[in-house]
Amino acid sequence: MSNYNPPVKDMLFIFDELCDLKGLNNLPNFTEISRDMVDHILNESAKFTSEVVAPLNQSGDQETSVLKDGEVTTPKGFKEAYKNFIEGGWNSTPFAPEHGGMGLPWMLTTSLQEMWQSANLAWSLCPLLTIGAIEAVIAHATPQLRNTFLPKLVSGEWTGTMNLTEPQAGTDMSLLKSRAIRDGENYRITGQKIYITYGEQDFTENIVHLVLARLPNSPTGVKGISLFLVPKFLVNEDGSLGERNDVFAVNIEHKLGIHASPTCVMSYGDNEGAIGYLVGKENDGLSCMFTMMNNARLNVGLQGVAIGERAYQQAVEFAKSRIQSAAVSGNTKSTTIIKHPDVRRMLMMMRSQIEAMRAIAYYTNSALDISRNHTEKKVRDINNARMDLLTPVVKAWCTDLGVEIASMGLQVHGGMGFIEETGAAQYFRDSRIAPIYEGTNGIQAIDLLGRKFLRDGGSAMDNLINEIGGIDEKLIETDDADCKAIQKSLREGLNSLRTASEWLLDPKNNDIDTKFSGATPFLHLTGTVVGGWLMARSALAAHRKLPNSKDRPFLEAKIITARFYADHILPRANAFLPEITRGSGSVMALPEESF
Ligand SMILES: Cc1cc2nc3c(=O)[nH]c(=O)nc-3n(C[C@H](O)[C@H](O)[C@H](O)COP(=O)(O)OP(=O)(O)OC[C@H]3O[C@@H](n4cnc5c(N)ncnc54)[C@H](O)[C@@H]3O)c2cc1C
Repeated sequence: MSNYNPPVKDMLFIFDELCDLKGLNNLPNFTEISRDMVDHILNESAKFTSEVVAPLNQSGDQETSVLKDGEVTTPKGFKEAYKNFIEGGWNSTPFAPEHGGMGLPWMLTTSLQEMWQSANLAWSLCPLLTIGAIEAVIAHATPQLRNTFLPKLVSGEWTGTMNLTEPQAGTDMSLLKSRAIRDGENYRITGQKIYITYGEQDFTENIVHLVLARLPNSPTGVKGISLFLVPKFLVNEDGSLGERNDVFAVNIEHKLGIHASPTCVMSYGDNEGAIGYLVGKENDGLSCMFTMMNNARLNVGLQGVAIGERAYQQAVEFAKSRIQSAAVSGNTKSTTIIKHPDVRRMLMMMRSQIEAMRAIAYYTNSALDISRNHTEKKVRDINNARMDLLTPVVKAWCTDLGVEIASMGLQVHGGMGFIEETGAAQYFRDSRIAPIYEGTNGIQAIDLLGRKFLRDGGSAMDNLINEIGGIDEKLIETDDADCKAIQKSLREGLNSLRTASEWLLDPKNNDIDTKFSGATPFLHLTGTVVGGWLMARSALAAHRKLPNSKDRPFLEAKIITARFYADHILPRANAFLPEITRGSGSVMALPEESF
């Protein structure tokens, strides 16, 4: 397995050129944040992740987490790495100082998370879930619950989990059966939850579970679900740990990948009922949980970027050292495989899509920062709509591509990719979960089409399309061959996105099956074009900076990579169009009994 070198330069470039780091610095909560400070934080995180977390990735995969007598033992070194992580204050970066956090922008935390995930996806899931739990507690819990639980969650002394899934209730939360019964001021929770990430662990002395359950006589369906905070250990008034609560891990799933992450079956209330505290209002649990899920969706989308980056680094290293076949026909001397055009093609496919995905993930997180911190409501609203629109795209486009890229990385290795010792196979296995959890990618596509596009009559998408169109002139004005080629390709892709949007909004195509048969291609079309736009912006910025730059190779590489994306990836946008506009005819034609 190769070393991990966090792509700090690319991260900084995206902050500066696509996310307007300087502009962010003018927002009231971020005035203290200088570029030097950001640079320093990224480099410190790079050091920590590459030296401490990354070396545990392969051993963790082989060792796995183990459950015995209700206690989980994580692989060797995981616990110590977590201790190191919280001592470094890394858990608290995005949270407001009033909650014990560092108050850094989400955009910056996104790049830190990318490093943890690239270094060791299975390990990184624990902080990921905690961050989501903190968001939900800040937004919906009572002051008393916040006082008791937030400081330790923010510092990372305790971790958080998210408990939605039950055997009969996966995507469809209306089927949820776990029960909550009022007991004085609190509630008693009973039921079984499955697939709970880090439901039990040996990192911390307490775990804070956020659990969805139904109260007696609550409305049926999703309107009758409430959210509860259920700690592993109850907390005494003085903050010390009290009684063990009635919640236990009863099994760990055996999985395709992320072996080191304990995915637990949790049993609530086998004895007297687990004590839980209501978060938000009764029967309003799903919308409270969505606070956590929206955050987690962006972070899971990032996993596609992170695992892709790691697979790419490994593939490059292999391609530079593996000697096989002559590079030019007639030449008999065998050479390194990186000289062969087909291997180069694979590496460029990986590299260009990773850069586009990173751009879209960071850009969406910067929209989140602006939507929460800008002084003008209008700017907050515009950015909120942009973030809403792009969240399912980040989740699904990046994670679908993450699998493709990890698969391509494996292909670069030939037979060695299929053999576990190189690590390429692990990236492929680990990448496969991301399109499934946090709402499958099919559900993300439905979210994009239904909630984010059709519901506002295409307004947020229209704003985005117009903004993308605005780059045309700037690219032409450069009079540079690469920028002009990028402009042409982007314009064609954008036309496809515009045509698809108009077709989907046309009342003639109102049938639900007709629309939703094309939901996934529509999401991929959106991702491909928005990715192309951000790559075009990168090329423009690199072109502008080149004459005065001390780092020409980096900027030249940005332009070449953007050109590759325009030549080889953007044309795919046109191919998604018929998949959308041909509707549901042959999708739904085959009778169910013929399957
Ligand atoms: C390793 C792992 C970790 C996880 N961690 C957690 C966790 O920490 N907490 C937690 O609560 N859950 C967790 N999950 C659960 C995860 O979020 C669910 O697996 C996921 O939401 C899908 O639910 P399901 O598996 O029941 O699939 P199903 O809902 O049965 O879906 C099966 C297929 O049908 C499709 N489908 C379902 N409904 C629709 C629809 N309306 N329209 C179109 N297609 C549809 C889906 O897209 C999918 O392709 C985890 C799962 C795994 C495997």
